Amino acid sequence: MPPWIGGKLTLKNIVFYDRTFMNISGFMLAQSSPHAPFAHAVLSWYAKFGRKNLPWQQHKTLYGVWLSEVMLQQTQVATVIPYFERFVKTFPNLTALADAPLDEVLHLWTGLGYYARARNLHKAAQIMRDQYGGMFPTEFEQVWALPGVGRSTAGAVLSSCLNAPYPILDGNVKRVLSRYFAIDGWPGEKKTEDRLWQLTAQVTPTEQVADFNQAMMDLGAMVCTRTKPKCDLCPLKKDCRANAEQNWLAYPGKKPKKTLPERESYFLLLEQNGKIALEQRENSGLWGGLYCFPQFTEKQALLAYLAANGIKQYQEWPAFRHTFSHFHLDIYPIYAQVGGLTETADVDCSPWKKVPEKTEEYQSDLLSAVKYWYDPQHPEPIGLATPVKNLLTQYVRNHYGKNGIL
Ligand code: SF4
Repeated sequence: MPPWIGGKLTLKNIVFYDRTFMNISGFMLAQSSPHAPFAHAVLSWYAKFGRKNLPWQQHKTLYGVWLSEVMLQQTQVATVIPYFERFVKTFPNLTALADAPLDEVLHLWTGLGYYARARNLHKAAQIMRDQYGGMFPTEFEQVWALPGVGRSTAGAVLSSCLNAPYPILDGNVKRVLSRYFAIDGWPGEKKTEDRLWQLTAQVTPTEQVADFNQAMMDLGAMVCTRTKPKCDLCPLKKDCRANAEQNWLAYPGKKPKKTLPERESYFLLLEQNGKIALEQRENSGLWGGLYCFPQFTEKQALLAYLAANGIKQYQEWPAFRHTFSHFHLDIYPIYAQVGGLTETADVDCSPWKKVPEKTEEYQSDLLSAVKYWYDPQHPEPIGLATPVKNLLTQYVRNHYGKNGIL
């Protein structure tokens, strides 16, 4: 039974909370805190204005709330809603998600970004199927140990579904607390993050935790917004330091500026009979497990590959930039046809070609282990990186007009 059911703290629970919140005083403060008016103001505001009709708030389950929390990491609610609805329709429970092929999971995730989240979600579902009999665990530390679940996500899931007294600290909560308490450090820095964890533990009440945590997220998303906070409408305006100083833009502290490095990549859109060559990336790292066009770091290497396959004509499509969190990628798409533009081409167009790793062929192959001829008119459920999906859309428009299928 979870430690918060039954009310009283036991010795076991104290140890549990001690590890979870780093110190027991953080938890006890929440009950007798001088910050109680904070929680009261936030909860009163939530009762009137908070969001209560989000899809994952209806018929709440640990599974559904966990899905939504992972999707909401670095992504806004409006973007997440259609993805969440498609996900729960396809994978109505943990076991369905665990049993699905990763390709299908990545396919449904296409466009949501940060694909490690989808891979971790799948891995975590398999752990819960294999170790917890397909049930979502209710112990904080078990939830926190799941791949892709941080301390805030674990707290959000358990507090939302079980009203368990766990504070959260997502981007919205960091912003509200930084402004309210005038914490000017960058939350990505450990010292500042630790301070914010202490503060969120202090202001989080021991009752109505689900509503309180949701209220803090809503307040950050709807009132204490990044650039133009609506302080006049805020339930915390009376004691908020940033409001008193009228300098809310100073909080939270900014990430030290670093110029992102620039890289470039040449994408080969190679078509044969309406099908496009794709390759699956390794399961970890950038776009891990997703399907992409064959990529070359130099144009000459791409042209040499075409020449080696007897393809002499190609088109250069407009270049564009895709920015990751840690670098800019300048993408130069080059389109060529096998067969259509040349009679001499001889490229392997079997639907699947799996080249075993560590073989000579694999080592010498410019493309990766799996080549896949993708049919945009009959698309398979596979995960596509966003620039790849956009270029495929462009290809379909060029060839089939606006009504083409992808
Ligand atoms: S008063 Fe303004 S700055 Fe302070 S928490 Fe509210 S919206 Fe944010």
